[in-house]
Formats: sequence, C-alpha cells, structure tokens
Amino acid sequence: MLEIQSIKKSFGKNTVLDGVNLKIEKGDVVVVLGPSGSGKTTLLRCINFLEKADEGKAIFGDIQVDLHKASKKQINTIRKRTAFVFQNYNLFNNKTALENVTEGLIIGRAIPKDKAIKMGKEALDKVGLSEKYNAYPSELSGGQQQRVGIARAVVLNPDIILFDEPTSALDPELVGEVLEVMKTIAKEGTTMLVVTHEMSFAKDVANRVIFMDGGVVVEEGSPKEFFENPKEERTQRFLRRVL
Ligand code: ATP
Repeated sequence: MLEIQSIKKSFGKNTVLDGVNLKIEKGDVVVVLGPSGSGKTTLLRCINFLEKADEGKAIFGDIQVDLHKASKKQINTIRKRTAFVFQNYNLFNNKTALENVTEGLIIGRAIPKDKAIKMGKEALDKVGLSEKYNAYPSELSGGQQQRVGIARAVVLNPDIILFDEPTSALDPELVGEVLEVMKTIAKEGTTMLVVTHEMSFAKDVANRVIFMDGGVVVEEGSPKEFFENPKEERTQRFLRRVL
C-alpha cells in the first residue's frame, strides 16, 4: 500500500534520515520506536510533505513519487490518502469540536455541509465525545482534544493515518483514553504508522515494530521478536533503558 525507498533528509549538516526504507500493507499497525532525535517525526513529516525530503521515493498504491520533486498535484493526491495526527493536536481554537472535524470534509473534500455534520458526529461518537460536539478546544482536556484530532483524521477515511507522538503532550492520567481510541480504530482495520514512546501500545497493538537510531532503521520485526529477542546491540541498549 505504501512503500518508502531510500529517504534522506538533512537540516544543514545534521543528517536526520540517512536512507530509510519502509513498507506498509493495508491493515498494518506499524510502530516506530527510537531514541530522541533519531528522525522518527521527520520521517512521518516527509511522508506527508510537511517537510521536504532531500531524496527518496514514495510508492503509494498506483502512484510513484520522487519525494524531493513531487508536483503539487502529486502532493495533494498523497495528502488526500493520508491523515496526520499531531503531537500538539493542531486544532482550530476558534472552532468547535464538530467544526474541527467537518472542516476537512467541507473545504478539502467538497462534501455537502449536512452530510459532513452527520459524518463528523459519527466520528466524534466513535472517540467517545458525543457530549462535546459544540465544545471549543479550550473547554476540552488534552486527552479530549487529541481525540478530536483522531476523529478529524478518521472521518476522512484515509488509506493510512500517521500518528506523531500522539500522547507525548498529555498528562499521564490522560494517555490511556487516547491509546484506547487508537486501539479501537486499529482493531477496525485502520492502517496506521505510529511514532510513540508508549511501549505498551507497541507490544499490544502493533503488528510490526521499527526501531530507528541515527537516521536509519536498525531493526524491525513483530513486537514479540522485537521485545523478547532483539538482535542488534543498539536495540538491546535502547530496550534496557526504556523497559
Ligand atoms: P523525539 O522522539 O525527541 O521527538 P525524533 O526521533 O522524532 O525525536 P526528530 O524530531 O525527527 O526526532 O528530529 C531529528 C533531528 O532533526 C533532531 O536533531 C532535531 O533537532 C532535528 N530537526 C528536526 N526538525 C528540524 C527543523 N525543522 N530544523 C532543524 N532541525 C530539525
């Protein structure tokens, strides 16, 4: 469904991605782990063109794109097939939860307002926010705001949802409710690429774990293989630190 080949990205002299390859099949829940600064977020942002890669290819179903010289049309096509969930939610503060969720449908997809509202309410119901359609972000907890962020991604019915450390900004007691929602949508067959530091999510929900360090994929495998029998020394060192 999505294949990334030899993606490279530097910021000045700092090489952040040094030839990363990635293959994701429909229904996969792939978790990307790695130390701080290993390039996980940058990888996600390059896939969605929030950051421009220096080199690399993305093969997205029937389209193949050179990431560093994609046309506007190609970028729009890929953006339509992906949705992004941000660490800091990125909600419009002057819009209600429902308006945040319907915006992309009405503006981006030209779906009639009535239909968009129906779809938006269903998406908010799914993330447990039936009581909060008309609440503004400032009236919601961080966990609730992130659930709006997830509803906004889900409602677009993308081929894949990219999660960039979705629980990192949350108080510890709010992390669980967001992970539960992610688990629910994973079980429904949503294809997900998730950058997270939540090892429990990687163990219980992912079907594949990718470990990055120094801008490369050091090791990948099933959660069982990865956590119980890591092969690379760098992986073992990382796991000793975080588990
Ligand atoms: P963390 O787990 O701490 O979020 P990460 O693995 O997601 O880390 P990235 O956020 O991808 O790492 O950052 C990798 C490196 O790239 C870091 O050294 C960071 O400072 C640098 N970097 C990221 N974005 C930019 C930018 N826009 N300009 C300059 N340097 C950047």
